[in-house]
Amino acid sequence: MNLENKKTKSMSLKKLLISILFLFFALSLSRKGIANYPEPPNIGILKQSIRAYIDSGSYQNDLEKVCNLATIYLYENYNKYPNPAAVFDVDETLLSNLEYMYRYDFGYNEESWQEWVIQAKAKAINPVKKLYQLSQKLNISIFIITGRKQIIDKLDEDPTIINLKNQGYYGWKKIFLKPINCKMSTVEFKTNCRKEIESQGYTIIMNVGDQWSDLLGGYSKQIFKLPNPFYYIP
Ligand SMILES: [Mg+2]
Repeated sequence: MNLENKKTKSMSLKKLLISILFLFFALSLSRKGIANYPEPPNIGILKQSIRAYIDSGSYQNDLEKVCNLATIYLYENYNKYPNPAAVFDVDETLLSNLEYMYRYDFGYNEESWQEWVIQAKAKAINPVKKLYQLSQKLNISIFIITGRKQIIDKLDEDPTIINLKNQGYYGWKKIFLKPINCKMSTVEFKTNCRKEIESQGYTIIMNVGDQWSDLLGGYSKQIFKLPNPFYYIP
């Protein structure tokens, strides 16, 4: 190896060394940048974890856990109050909209939602359906309160009613759908409905829903909150 070759090799080594040092410097700077602020949740990663929650069976297990607790509660309390009643929400309580949520990758808009509701294709959530049937067996009056709007004037022809019946839900005392022009918040609307039920002499011993806005506001002896990591209704 001649002198010129040795010089060239030494220069290349220096360049490599400088590049490595620069890379370390850049990496340490970027690490500092990442550590400088708490990074908010990443929606792509959240969607993956929600899919894993469903696919692993954890969602089903959690639904069953809540319904099992409610079952024990019903057996212990169904005959403690006069005219016992139970309140159920619709979406992600009696019926599952997973097909809609998967179709739009957990997105939502009013138009696609109304299209989905009209199709009346939502499936029953089985642990909740068993709870509904147990309530009937124990002679507990059933009321359904939903933020869904009434689309058809004739209630029996409304797609929500058709969907519920298709999925084996019958025999409720009354269903409350949110009037189209209702300006009330969900908590206000649902609380008013429960107040109306109790004013007719019923005691709501159990209220089952997937949103806190289904459950807060009183007029119920016991609430049962089902899991819903898919959306939030204030
Ligand atoms: Mg709901």
